[in-house]
Amino acid sequence: MRAAPDYYSYYKATVNDSTRHPRLEGDEVADVCIIGGGYTGLSTTLGLAEKGYAVTLLESFNIGWGASGRNGGQLIHGIGGKSYLRKKYGPDIEAFINRLCWRGHEIVEENIKKYDIECDLKYGYLDCAFKTRQMSDLEEEFEHYDSLGMGDRFRLVSANELSDYIGTSVYKGGLYNDRDAHLHPLNLCLGEARAAAGLGAKIYEQSQVLSITHGREPRVHTEHGSIRAKIVVLAGNAYHLLEQKHVGGILFPAGTYIIATEPLGDNMAHDVLPADVAVCDLNEMLNYYRLSSDKRMLFGGRCNYSGREPRDIKASIKPRMLQIFPQLKGTRIDFQWGGKIGIVINRIPQLGRIGDNVYYAQGYSGHGINQTHIVGEILTAAICGQMEDFDVYAKAKHWKIPAPRWVGNNMVALGMMYYRIRDLL
Ligand SMILES: Cc1cc2nc3c(=O)[nH]c(=O)nc-3n(C[C@H](O)[C@H](O)[C@H](O)COP(=O)(O)OP(=O)(O)OC[C@H]3O[C@@H](n4cnc5c(N)ncnc54)[C@H](O)[C@@H]3O)c2cc1C
Repeated sequence: MRAAPDYYSYYKATVNDSTRHPRLEGDEVADVCIIGGGYTGLSTTLGLAEKGYAVTLLESFNIGWGASGRNGGQLIHGIGGKSYLRKKYGPDIEAFINRLCWRGHEIVEENIKKYDIECDLKYGYLDCAFKTRQMSDLEEEFEHYDSLGMGDRFRLVSANELSDYIGTSVYKGGLYNDRDAHLHPLNLCLGEARAAAGLGAKIYEQSQVLSITHGREPRVHTEHGSIRAKIVVLAGNAYHLLEQKHVGGILFPAGTYIIATEPLGDNMAHDVLPADVAVCDLNEMLNYYRLSSDKRMLFGGRCNYSGREPRDIKASIKPRMLQIFPQLKGTRIDFQWGGKIGIVINRIPQLGRIGDNVYYAQGYSGHGINQTHIVGEILTAAICGQMEDFDVYAKAKHWKIPAPRWVGNNMVALGMMYYRIRDLL
């Protein structure tokens, strides 16, 4: 099995389900074989299991091992690549964009409710502007949602009013909404896996897929077994290296990192985030942060395209946290970890098919909790024969860099450096 960076994250330390699934041993059959136990794979597995399909999910390591079990936990609305979609499809696409805008939230909420998933869901989210031009973007966004009749869920927050939400004076203002949320991402994964297994889906861990033999009924091979299925779904996102002839050179893995402080106690927690909301700031090299249920500051940021993991995550993230919250100077850091996101140049999640029966879905550019759930629903519908939403994504054109991954990553890194310099100016 390939080496892979792993961390003991705050999420791993606070899982509420210790179920372990067996390794695949021997040859089996399924209607659908899903590769990857993150939200893309899990939400598709759950969607298909609900419809009575015999589904088998194969995961290299453990459920939620990838980005889905490590992320910032910020459930943020919207889909990626809107400007591309508008250019490609014209005004008719607005209905699609608006229909999907909150669909990921609805699916997550339905799953939590239907399957009794404990994952610390809390509402409230704030985008913060460092610069006046970013504030103008937020004002435009507010007007957009207001024109769609959602103005009552959003609130423009001036620099003076920010203290209701956040204990810092570094921002020029923000845009708050009460519909976005934050949650414990790994416990959501484990809950969705439990729900799918409860409906008869088979889940195998420690079962890395090594290859796919294509054909009328493709066969997926692991070291110790295989699954023959009518349909295969490739949901390994930034972590897989399968089918590179088809999906190589279009997705660029990038590392992003999080630290968790010691529990802050009620007073300090109230001082830094009095409304207990999730926050992102608007720089291209953004910071994202929130409180955990036991009142630690979970602070994330930085994007690394080199593929080399930083030796000391804390040393690079803590100064960013102190720039916003100097009052946390003496606070201990208890956990540090990172994971890989899949960057797509035009920001549109990449959905497609290799032949008729191998689907893939990847590339949420760091904005994946809602979009993976939307994509899971779209894949489920496509496998059931309703291709309309799938085709909107599948017809998108993606830049392909026909060179080894490190070359593509360095090109994306150069592009991001431009934005970094712009952030600093
Ligand atoms: C540190 C961090 C912070 C983030 N913060 C946020 C946030 O706050 N809000 C937000 O919306 N998004 C966030 N994201 C992005 C979000 O987590 C991802 O977009 C989303 O989880 C992707 O889900 P996925 O299922 O497609 O991929 P993953 O969760 O990465 O899952 C892929 C899985 O496939 C498995 N796999 C790969 N290859 C194989 C193989 N050959 N055989 C079997 N299994 C295989 C991997 O082991 C992995 O478990 C963050 C990501 C990171 C890393």
